[in-house]
Amino acid sequence: MHLPKAELHLHIEGTLEPELAFALARRNGVQLPYADTEELRTAYLFEDLQSFLDLYYALMAVLRTEEDFEELADAYLARAAAQGVRHAEIFFDPQAHTARGVPIGTVVEGLGRALDRSEEKHGISTQLIMCFLRDQSAESALLTLEAAKPYLHRISAVGLDSAEVGHPPAKFREVYEAAAALGLRKVAHAGEEGPPEYIREALDVLGVERIDHGLRCMEDPELVKRLVADRVPLTLCPLSNVRLRAIDTLEDHPLRAMMAAGLLCTVNSDDPAYFGGYVGDTFHAVREALGLDQEQLRTLARNSFEAAFLDHDEERRARYLSEVEAYAFD
Ligand SMILES: [Zn+2]
Repeated sequence: MHLPKAELHLHIEGTLEPELAFALARRNGVQLPYADTEELRTAYLFEDLQSFLDLYYALMAVLRTEEDFEELADAYLARAAAQGVRHAEIFFDPQAHTARGVPIGTVVEGLGRALDRSEEKHGISTQLIMCFLRDQSAESALLTLEAAKPYLHRISAVGLDSAEVGHPPAKFREVYEAAAALGLRKVAHAGEEGPPEYIREALDVLGVERIDHGLRCMEDPELVKRLVADRVPLTLCPLSNVRLRAIDTLEDHPLRAMMAAGLLCTVNSDDPAYFGGYVGDTFHAVREALGLDQEQLRTLARNSFEAAFLDHDEERRARYLSEVEAYAFD
């Protein structure tokens, strides 16, 4: 739980807990279709991807002002700090907000207010990764990048998320090229529900530096070889895989086999309010379910800092890595 770690796959909208959702709904005069937090918490026990996405987008209606986004991020950082997180690279989905009439500036500045204080208040260094919704058009992604231009000082990378199948990475070639030209780094969700081919495409066509999820690389031994040789980090989210039925139970998760294959695996929480735990909870759960020993857990923590976008501050990376080595399990 307290092992120092970086979180590299975390959607800030997926950290909205029922209590905060109701508080923001009251403040903003938004009517939620649930009587109270208890009833809403029951709705979080969704059955499949579609019921998850329906709830996820419905609840975003409560996020309206900079203050709302600030509170959302601050609540996440407080929870993450209590679970050993020392560095967080946080996804946000501008299109999910601009589609509701909330300008991208409100989202970025609001999140930025919490992130600016994060190191001092929570002991967590942070970065923001702007994700494009892959089930929307390539034109919409380009417009989003254009709208983000005044805020690029707050954004370190672009990503690609939401429903994967039928929306291959190549659809976003142009916007990724434009993002790279602006100095942004690149990641993408691939190989969660989509085939191994999508992972190749994300690497070859989009030029991403990390693969978010990448679970299905295990179906393609040549691809595994390449990911191992190139040390491409995978940001795995085991609790999310179970809740969204990518795998049946946590005991079936290929994490152990992926580590044994030499893949650079990291463990993350994805949408923790919805998937049953934050990143420390996730470490705890995989240890229990897969019988990982202390050195394997330490390797996962070490990997998270090696995969982090800290190239501009190697001193900080080295400090975090030495915290991992010095950590005494109790
Ligand atoms: Zn994700």
